[in-house]
Amino acid sequence: MNYSKQFCVKPGSEVDLGKVDAGFTDKHESHEHALPEIETYTQKLHDLQYLMYAEDKRSLLICLQGRDAAGKDGTINHVLGAMNPQGCAVTGFKVPSKEEAAHDFLWRYHQHTPAKGQVAIFNRSHYEDVLVVRVHDLVPKAVWSRRYAQINDFEKTLVDNGTHILKFYLHIDPHEQLARFRQRIDDPARHWKISDGDYAERPFWDAYTEAFEDALSKTSTEHAPWFVIPSNHKWFRNLAISRIVAETLESLGMKFPEPTVDIDQIKQKYHAIVEQEGGGDAQPVKEHK
Ligand code: ADP
Repeated sequence: MNYSKQFCVKPGSEVDLGKVDAGFTDKHESHEHALPEIETYTQKLHDLQYLMYAEDKRSLLICLQGRDAAGKDGTINHVLGAMNPQGCAVTGFKVPSKEEAAHDFLWRYHQHTPAKGQVAIFNRSHYEDVLVVRVHDLVPKAVWSRRYAQINDFEKTLVDNGTHILKFYLHIDPHEQLARFRQRIDDPARHWKISDGDYAERPFWDAYTEAFEDALSKTSTEHAPWFVIPSNHKWFRNLAISRIVAETLESLGMKFPEPTVDIDQIKQKYHAIVEQEGGGDAQPVKEHK
């Protein structure tokens, strides 16, 4: 089955994360086994992003959410590693600054949505305003409960203006989170990643589950779907997300723009130069599909 269908939260459905196996790896028994498929989709991502950049007509917004150590940074590394940095931007969202907090909650996100031809990745996103904000009562319920509809309207506005939106919830279980906390302790190169905040959030596991389930159920729409990605295995998470992004971009039927010059004329000019100056023996370039 197409991963865009398999992992999508059907609009209008109620999500129960307890029923999703965070260790799922589909038909792959190991990373090695999945490598050829990972390579295929990495290449596809590369080619399709190149096409989106060239076409310059639409854009893609990828939102990443998940618990601490769920793998948001690793996902960005993998997905962006396949793309040309000229056409991509990543924005991470932390506790709002004084200026950000003085505006409506969507203000700071809107400034980083992608321009035509561009891919934007949000490392945390406007969903924090119905997640951490809800779990820790940072605003009254009457305020955060209105935000689901406001988020749907905001996303619809972006979509109506040519942005495609894909939202990924990286699903890990409590055991895996603890294992990752342990790896961070054991590896001095990861000590910088350890934050007291991660440990402070752990006792709120169930409250976050409820907040995630509500957000996923209320804001997965035809125009801006959520995907619940089994993420205990980093390689499977990377494969699933690359595949969904590639499948989505492929379905858009993007086309390279028509050349702005007469290619036959340009060829004649080129050959005239080669005749005069010699050279012109460069290797033929691989064609982009
Ligand atoms: P990372 O994203 O790598 O975990 P940090 O460890 O600095 O980065 O965590 C960022 C923190 O900012 C998180 O605890 C997150 O919940 C918090 N945060 C993000 N957006 C908001 C928001 N709108 N309101 C309150 N806290 C937020």
